[in-house]
Amino acid sequence: MQKKEDNLMEKIVSLCKRRGFIFQGSEIYGGLAGTYDYGHFGLALKNNIKQNWWKKFVDNRHDMYGIDAAILMRQEVWQNAGHVANFADPMVECEKCKEKFRTDQIEDKNKCSVCCGRLGEAKQFNMMFQTKVGASDDSSAISYLRPETAQGMFVNFKNTVDAFHPKLPFGMAQIGKAFRNEITPRDFIFRVREFEQMEIEYFVREGDWEKYFKYWKDEMIEWMESIGLDMSKVHELEVEDGDRAHYSKRTVDFEFDYPFGRKELFGLAYRTDFDLKNHKLDYIDEEKGEKIVPHVIEPTFGVDRAVLSLLLSAYNEDDIERPFFKFNPSIAPVICAVSPLLKNKPELVEYANTKVFAPLKAEFGRVIWDDNGNIGKRYRRQDEIGTPYCIVIDFDTLTDDTVTVRDRDTGEQERVKVENLKEYIQEKIN
Ligand code: ATP
Repeated sequence: MQKKEDNLMEKIVSLCKRRGFIFQGSEIYGGLAGTYDYGHFGLALKNNIKQNWWKKFVDNRHDMYGIDAAILMRQEVWQNAGHVANFADPMVECEKCKEKFRTDQIEDKNKCSVCCGRLGEAKQFNMMFQTKVGASDDSSAISYLRPETAQGMFVNFKNTVDAFHPKLPFGMAQIGKAFRNEITPRDFIFRVREFEQMEIEYFVREGDWEKYFKYWKDEMIEWMESIGLDMSKVHELEVEDGDRAHYSKRTVDFEFDYPFGRKELFGLAYRTDFDLKNHKLDYIDEEKGEKIVPHVIEPTFGVDRAVLSLLLSAYNEDDIERPFFKFNPSIAPVICAVSPLLKNKPELVEYANTKVFAPLKAEFGRVIWDDNGNIGKRYRRQDEIGTPYCIVIDFDTLTDDTVTVRDRDTGEQERVKVENLKEYIQEKIN
């Protein structure tokens, strides 16, 4: 019998397309490498991940300040942050077929794996997308699409301190797009050129950095568990000297066992006072009457890698190898589907629509109407989307005001009073 893991990436990519989760970017024109478009259900999953993250790390805390900074920033930001000089990957080009490779990702540094031609000298390739702002053509118009959301927080550090007068330690949080002109985008949404990040810059006194590094490592693990990542596949890697980003004194990567190997999922970096110092920013401690430059602990999460790892963690096959996603109810794109047993019986449709679907939709949003095909087909379709509950309105409902709720994971069916449905679903989400 085929194992679930066989061709897992192909199965996920094809299911994601078929069920409207994720599509290749610019697909009808042959695709644009390193870009993907999220369809209705993929977007719902992504939004749930982001909302869940924001709730834990911003809304539920008293020391975190949100920001939504512009993607385009003045070039000085990237010069002073060291990205113009250092945000580069080593690249080699085949002298024969011109194929390009990241030097640190190939085994044979001399021979091209595509045409066996000779590889040229390695050079540094800056991954920032450069653009021009405005109609002027001189170098002062140069800007970059941000390669990390972090700088949007550093450049608003003073604004945040002036507006809210936070006491150390405190953090800034942002969710937004980042762009990197990756030399070899690959592995579906794992390495793309346009992606989203959820980042925190947590400002502390220098002497406290180790304490907060440990604190944020634990927080990250707790969040990963809470959204339903398969934690047996998550591993910590202490990134060694020489392999860390130019701004980091200590980095721990959380790696995930993807079908294509163990690779970075999220990261935690001690950015020291590198960024604030370079932007000439400081902080006045009013209680102590001193001026200091806070140090920074940065937990960073890639949204697209979170989506991919969650898809892989939730992917399951039933006894006859039919796929389904076992998403946590709190994160599933659809929390429940509502179905009248027969769509040509107006009394069932009317009841299902007014007494079940409309109130649940108003309450939870993530509720869909499904009356297509027989009940078995509807269950299959919902399993593939990862919908935890299917609610069916049948003829008994008309007399006793109960509905069938079918559980995705066990296949078990329960009769639930219509008046109790909201609490029933809410309990499952919690
Ligand atoms: P990698 O070593 O895989 O290139 P990185 O160390 O450069 O990643 P960071 O600079 O630490 O990545 O970026 C923070 C997070 O942003 C990563 O942990 C990852 O989740 C996400 N990320 C980075 N690059 C990409 C990309 N090209 N596509 C999708 N997500 C990315």
